[in-house]
Amino acid sequence: MTKKTIAFSSASVTNYFDADFSYLGKIVSKDEGIIITDENILKAYSKKFQGWKVVAIKAGEQHKNQQTVDSIIDQLIELGADRQTFLVGVGGGVLTDMTGYVAAIYMRGIRCGYVPTSILAMVDAAIGGKNGIDVGLYKNMVGIIRQPAFILYDYSFLKLLPQAEWVNGFAEIIKHACIRDVAMFKLLEENKLTDFQKDKELLSKLIQRNALLKSKVVAKDEYEHGERKFLNFGHTIAHAIENLYQIPHGHAVSIGMGVACKISEQLNSFSDTTRVTGLLKKYGLPPQFEYDKEQTLKLLRADKKKEKDAISYILLHKIGKPYIASLPFQQIETLI
Ligand code: ADP
Ligand code: ZN
Repeated sequence: MTKKTIAFSSASVTNYFDADFSYLGKIVSKDEGIIITDENILKAYSKKFQGWKVVAIKAGEQHKNQQTVDSIIDQLIELGADRQTFLVGVGGGVLTDMTGYVAAIYMRGIRCGYVPTSILAMVDAAIGGKNGIDVGLYKNMVGIIRQPAFILYDYSFLKLLPQAEWVNGFAEIIKHACIRDVAMFKLLEENKLTDFQKDKELLSKLIQRNALLKSKVVAKDEYEHGERKFLNFGHTIAHAIENLYQIPHGHAVSIGMGVACKISEQLNSFSDTTRVTGLLKKYGLPPQFEYDKEQTLKLLRADKKKEKDAISYILLHKIGKPYIASLPFQQIETLI
């Protein structure tokens, strides 16, 4: 196990990399802890949860809403959860997002920690303190930035992770490589998904590299005034199309990165579009998709990140060198 504490402006988060789930008992007492997980994970790993109080919700993004939050709160009240309670979100991004949100509002805030079980949650969703829920078609419309006390990484959870979820997670890994780590971009080009799935050491290094990359970006700019925005690379289009077409987040981000590369090409002669799209394809991700421009633009106009008639768009000068451009909607219309 490797322990690394990251100081954010509001709080410190302790990361336990390469840990065993049983170590959770050393961080949180079984009397105070309540695990929030989803039905798939509970079923697949029920042995790990023995002796813990567990609240299990239905799996899937469509349940990341206020109704589920209400049902978790009802169950917490029933279990007698109080200000001493420590919530532990065990699951993918949907789970960690909702656990963090419930912990932030239950009795005006109780402690929480995460055990991410999907690649996506390990390298992205569990990190940075953003949590919340969707409202109708609008992703993450309601929420708060609040850091968990800890994140525990037990890679044995990945044994039963569906292949599609592996692919999803690699979209965020490729995103990290594009905005910050050209050496990792090369590493990804030199290997393929099955190499990471077979080689524990290679995978463990990759996950830690990505988790620390994201943590450091967020630590410098927790409330997203500058650098943290780079992490939205590929996400402007992604958020709009993923609910419109019910496509997985990773696919939507991949399509969004493809679009962002094309825009970068048109605005500042970015010359590595084919290298990026090649890598996406290699990891089973789609760099293109036929989407309804009008509907997509309508959703973009309601995006949290818009300012009046423009949106800050993350573009690339080079792989590893992103920049922020404020693009008017009218211009986006001609570019996409
Ligand atoms: P995300 O892709 O943001 O991590 P979810 O929380 O929806 O989103 O997780 C994706 C799906 O994968 C869910 O159906 C969840 O139950 C399932 N899942 C997550 N982790 C595991 C795991 N380690 N083993 C099996 N299924 C998992
Ligand atoms: Zn994402």
